[in-house]
Amino acid sequence: MPSQRTAQLSDIPLQNLYSLLEPITIPASSPRAKFSNWGQTYYCTPLAIFEPENEFQCQLILELARREGRRVRPVGVGHSPSDLACTKEFMLQTRKLNRMLEVNAEKRYVVVQGGVTLQDLHAELAKYNLAMINVGSISEQSLAGVVTTATHGSGIEYGVMSTHVLALTLLLADGSRVTCSRNERSDLFIASICGLGCTGLIMNIQLAVEPAFLLKEVQDSLPFEEVMQRLDEFVYSSEHVRFWWFPTADSVRMSFCDRSQEPRNPAGSWWWHTLLGYHLVQLLLFIGRYILGLNTWIANFACWLVSGRTVGVDDSHVIFNVDCRYPQHTTEWAVPYHNARSCLRELKAWLAQEQQDPHGLRPHFPVEIRFSAPDDIWLSPSYGQKTCWIGIVQYKPYGFNVPYRKLFSGYEKIVARHQGRPHWAKAHELTPEILSKTYPRFDDFVRVINTVDPRGMFRNEYIQRHIFGRPVDTRFYKSRKE
Ligand SMILES: Cc1cc2nc3c(=O)[nH]c(=O)nc-3n(C[C@H](O)[C@H](O)[C@H](O)COP(=O)(O)OP(=O)(O)OC[C@H]3O[C@@H](n4cnc5c(N)ncnc54)[C@H](O)[C@@H]3O)c2cc1C
Repeated sequence: MPSQRTAQLSDIPLQNLYSLLEPITIPASSPRAKFSNWGQTYYCTPLAIFEPENEFQCQLILELARREGRRVRPVGVGHSPSDLACTKEFMLQTRKLNRMLEVNAEKRYVVVQGGVTLQDLHAELAKYNLAMINVGSISEQSLAGVVTTATHGSGIEYGVMSTHVLALTLLLADGSRVTCSRNERSDLFIASICGLGCTGLIMNIQLAVEPAFLLKEVQDSLPFEEVMQRLDEFVYSSEHVRFWWFPTADSVRMSFCDRSQEPRNPAGSWWWHTLLGYHLVQLLLFIGRYILGLNTWIANFACWLVSGRTVGVDDSHVIFNVDCRYPQHTTEWAVPYHNARSCLRELKAWLAQEQQDPHGLRPHFPVEIRFSAPDDIWLSPSYGQKTCWIGIVQYKPYGFNVPYRKLFSGYEKIVARHQGRPHWAKAHELTPEILSKTYPRFDDFVRVINTVDPRGMFRNEYIQRHIFGRPVDTRFYKSRKE
């Protein structure tokens, strides 16, 4: 039975609906009427992009979509390195849905609108002497984007960031507004905290936080094989451990972070972060597009730039975040922690073989290695297992393209052999047949979305392809040049 609100909405004449939506519609003539993801690797021109500022406007958008039989894709800041956020129908931009709604410092939670970026959330939380429990490499993303893709930081005792969500308020495809948590509509909740935007529009998120803290980070480098032999010792030695591996230099840069009472003492390197680190490396990478062998030298040079032991103490999010640099192709898979060593060694052997071949691959750097605790979220790549995340990257210097497909396909074959699961925000080729074997609760996820959204209003091409097995080309939203 429709709620009072939806009954009122359905009474609005179509022309009035258009007029109400006009002020929040990005004009077709605006450059913002076209969407590309941050990595500049996927592009789309939606039929309309709406930028609502409140829940009522979101209701209006869903009402129009229902009447016109359109699909709706919520989007945060478009940082997903795949076509996950792309659509040719209605795009609902959540940037302006970014308000803090409740702070409970005593019970250590906040309620915030889903469109808030993590960096704005850090600033808001700091006012109450609070902080997020764990954060990934960047804080540009929207909180809802982070939650729906099971974005992770690092720490073998820390789950993906969705594990910190206590409750959600959603607008469903039928226009109803529901709250869900582990105690209330728990199936919808578990499906939505890694829901890829297809269970409904996340309006509000109740998020567990902790008192603001400083992190002390110690960084040092060791040869690859020594790190592999002492992997358990290193991974369990600090709260948040992550590695950046430079295969051609046979070196792993290790970062160990722990909550600290020591005074703030930032440890940035000017050479790395500005002149040399950023601009020179970008220029060299650009030249490396033409002289492939140069990429090995650049990787070794970048490795040298960050060598040596460093110690720094700073606000948690400052230490958690790193400089991800230039637009890029990137992929990342989660392998069970017990397979991490064998997987990384196989990757090493393969990359060494390529290096020996004069026409072999000369990849960019580094390989990023992180860890997370098991969880019970149906589509989380950490579902039921301690996880080692392994990510690779091919930068696009000055936005110019570089070869990446052969590298990514070789990498994917290896991580898949080690029971890897792809990061949902990153491009992959897995079909529902494979995914349902990889995720024991995959069918439950499909059941929930079929129940709350039988017509598929929230399903874009990515969802059609990977969840429902429709033959939508993975290159549907690629530019022709790539
Ligand atoms: C430089 C860089 C660094 C990164 N670092 C990490 C990292 O350290 N760890 C990691 O795990 N990932 C990382 N990622 C991936 C990133 O965290 C995810 O892609 C995240 O989803 C991006 O958030 P967004 O706001 O850009 O979401 P978008 O890309 O805009 O959208 C992602 C998904 O969220 C859905 N969505 C967005 N808002 C809503 C809403 N309100 N309701 C329902 N669904 C919604 C969209 O429909 C889509 O399915 C990184 C990506 C980049 C480019």
